[in-house]
Amino acid sequence: MKFNSLSNLEKNVDLVEAAIKGTAKDGTLYMPENIPTLSKEVIDQIGKKDFHDTLVDFLHPYFETHFDAAGLKEILLDAIDFPFKLAEVKKHLFSLELYHGPTLAFKDVGARFMSRVLQKIKPDNKKIIILVATSGDTGSAVANGFYEVEGFEVVLLYPSKKVSKIQEQQFTTLGKNIIALEIEGTFDDCQNMVKKAFCDETLRAKKNISSANSINILRLLPQMTYYIWAYHQLKKPFNICVPSGNFGNLTAGILAKKMGLPINNFIAANNENDVFFRYLKNGKYEPMQTISTLSNAMDVGNPNNFYRLMFLYGDDIKNVVKEVSACKISDKKTLETITKVNDIYNYLLDPHGAVAFAAVEEKVDSFDIPWLFLETAHPAKFKETVEEAIGKPIPLPKSIEDTMEKPKKSILMGSDYEKFKEFLLS
Ligand SMILES: *Cc1c(COP(=O)(O)O)cnc(C)c1O
Repeated sequence: MKFNSLSNLEKNVDLVEAAIKGTAKDGTLYMPENIPTLSKEVIDQIGKKDFHDTLVDFLHPYFETHFDAAGLKEILLDAIDFPFKLAEVKKHLFSLELYHGPTLAFKDVGARFMSRVLQKIKPDNKKIIILVATSGDTGSAVANGFYEVEGFEVVLLYPSKKVSKIQEQQFTTLGKNIIALEIEGTFDDCQNMVKKAFCDETLRAKKNISSANSINILRLLPQMTYYIWAYHQLKKPFNICVPSGNFGNLTAGILAKKMGLPINNFIAANNENDVFFRYLKNGKYEPMQTISTLSNAMDVGNPNNFYRLMFLYGDDIKNVVKEVSACKISDKKTLETITKVNDIYNYLLDPHGAVAFAAVEEKVDSFDIPWLFLETAHPAKFKETVEEAIGKPIPLPKSIEDTMEKPKKSILMGSDYEKFKEFLLS
């Protein structure tokens, strides 16, 4: 399989190039040159044969230039060595819990898969520096994904005092090949420093730098995994609601459907950052200034994967609305939903899952075909919000408790690019 940029200006790009570059020169994202569809026999086998073999059926077409089926399966077994879980919150409405990985958020799936594939396909004896600016979740998933993976160093920039204590501990206590730069500035400053580095030819001539954000094709493709797992468990078609920020998750679900996975309909749940909601309403795509909300991993004003999603629907909104609807949920509603679901169903939601749950309640009348929603982070990662909603303390999982005890190691730095560059060159 080769990859094309969405602008079609770059064609026949090899997996390695697409993965290491991340985006095409003109800034558009890479997509597979075609979307394979699986035969009815293969789809019928889901739930009957081994889950990881089914994953290989879906993913191997994209990787066959570099891996045989056994090699890909080995990577999948190593990357996804934690469970997904389905919890029936109320009749025919299931929470698909994606937060049982090392950093307690679904981004573990993409980050762990990506690091292991990159390690195998990168040119020999090249050390790669992964640069990542983070406002929280991405940093911990990427740091953990690449932790102790040979040939890589992660340099992670985060805004000092602007991430939660849990998040900070998750990426500053690892050490070894993970370096945390605590930037005296905002998340935008961090992102600008990283962007400048990617445009800096003198730096790039000396160091191999790469990115690991969600626009990378190696993070998108493995996110089909949990949709496939849900079908493997249920063995019947379902609908699904996806709490969305950059729209990587939703795009991966649609991709799985295009390949033949029997998913019926999707709901894209937005918080106040409602670009997609408005797009479905009036047909206009209007990026916006980001608004801070309680479901902060979804605070995205210009979702990167929007054009990938449109590509899968032939760039025609009429095709989108046949399968995808959207819903917008306020912070007030998010809190009320956490409270209500805890009181009535005795189930603890995190703010992102709560946005999705509220969207299902608002949009869905019939549960004849089961509905699922993605529960993308462990409630304990958003301890303050969840405790406020339910009015009592929640216990931390053991893994977070251990992390909270470890000493923080970070390098304090201003938001000046030249200092940052000097550091990278040293
Ligand atoms: C990143 C993230 C999202 C949004 O996912 P996208 O793929 O960017 O739409 C939702 N919830 C949590 C907890 C996240 O970390």
